[in-house]
Amino acid sequence: MASVYDRHVDLPTFMEGVKKRNPGQDEFVQAVQEVAQDVFDFIEDKEEYHEAQILRRIAEPDRIVSFRVCWEDDNHCIRVQRGWRVQNNNAIGPYKGGIRFHPTVNESVLKFLAFEQTFKNSLTGLPMGGGKGGANFNPKGKSDSEVMRFCQSFMTELQRHIGPDTDVPAGDIGVGSREIGYMFGQYKRITNRWEGVLTGKGTEYGGSKMRPEATGYGAVYFMQNMLRHAGQDVEGKAAVISGSGNVATHAAEKILQLGGKVLTLSDSGGFIHDPDGIDQEKIDWVKRLKNERRGRISEYADHFTNASFHKGKRPWDVECDLALPCATQNELNEDEARALVANGCIAVAEGANMPTTLDGVKVFHDAQLMYGPGKAANAGGVAVSGLEMSQNAERISWNHDRLGQMLTELMEGIHEQCVEYGKQGDYVDYVRGANIAGFKKVADAMLAFGVM
Ligand code: NAP
Repeated sequence: MASVYDRHVDLPTFMEGVKKRNPGQDEFVQAVQEVAQDVFDFIEDKEEYHEAQILRRIAEPDRIVSFRVCWEDDNHCIRVQRGWRVQNNNAIGPYKGGIRFHPTVNESVLKFLAFEQTFKNSLTGLPMGGGKGGANFNPKGKSDSEVMRFCQSFMTELQRHIGPDTDVPAGDIGVGSREIGYMFGQYKRITNRWEGVLTGKGTEYGGSKMRPEATGYGAVYFMQNMLRHAGQDVEGKAAVISGSGNVATHAAEKILQLGGKVLTLSDSGGFIHDPDGIDQEKIDWVKRLKNERRGRISEYADHFTNASFHKGKRPWDVECDLALPCATQNELNEDEARALVANGCIAVAEGANMPTTLDGVKVFHDAQLMYGPGKAANAGGVAVSGLEMSQNAERISWNHDRLGQMLTELMEGIHEQCVEYGKQGDYVDYVRGANIAGFKKVADAMLAFGVM
């Protein structure tokens, strides 16, 4: 009988081992399953990867740091939260990946994100390993001083585990420029060093001029590359977008710039549908709503008369040509994927990480729809973070145009790698392409280091 320790285990036996070692960590198991099914196929006749148990080693984080974060709220009550940093793999560069502050954060979510990040960072072609961190802290409804005290307390512990050549965190859900500023300030204060230890910083203190836009713009560039490969374009197409944060608003902005129309945005309360199209003025209004007033997307329908708000719903039933899930994991399920296909959607590019469930992905695959998974489509953010690291190390600053050009080229490069490994006749399996291209570089580096 096959054992999980056999050199040539089959996929079910491998996954059984992953489930056993990670009880109750469904998101992590889902992410490993999605990569393993493609990688197993690819390494079938490649003895060196089996012998070195490479996949099993990548699916075991190098280390997980978990710590207590205490802070005092405005009513002088002491609050206790849990923080983590998952350092998944540093074979090709320092650990790199965002920090998420959200009540749903737990070890499984961060392990899945750090695992995905390892392949995504490899695909960018830049020297970055994979990591992710965060806390079960909800910044919503907190005052600026409360957020500052939390961020300072979080960084007081995290600073022991990070550094410009060790691990370079960035933002993610609930961590934007305000939080990065508070955390960077605390790092600098404790260590007495100004160094590029975080990315997503303000442009006044070493941030990249293109970082806020990079993930959303990059996801649309990836969409554009998929469409061009099939002889089509974004121009004249209607797009449905979920989320209303950093990634969603910038994806909407780039769709507009390329001549498309944006019909929806959402948040955890529901989605808004604007049949007139969400133009730049409306996007700027949403940015102010979310970043300054910290309000709810439902307010959009009160402000713009033709728009409707759909409480507790997601936007995937709205007829469209293009779909960009840009909110969170598992926000697009099998039925919703079927609705998109039935309504004539031709391409999906994921701005969020793992927004489509495995069953949903199967629907896209069976329909042979152009489907760009997050690890490829949303890699523009971390790619520009990689450029921010280079700028900080050299003490220079590149302008917006130059960074914009670099982002366009990086997304083209990621698309090309996906096509190289994912082409199946006329159809490109972008999931397979991204998984194999991302895996190969990390795996080859690990082989070079021997067993560790
Ligand atoms: P953000 O600015 O905090 O926005 C997150 C958006 O998602 C908000 O509209 C939020 O609504 C919504 N959301 C969060 N949890 C939700 C849930 N359970 N159900 C429905 N909506 C939910 O975060 P972001 O930076 O745009 O990140 C969005 C996604 O992109 C995440 O998957 C992140 O990992 C991924 N990503 C981000 C970057 C980056 O550079 N920022 C890079 C790569 C990937 P509420 O306001 O109601 O919470």
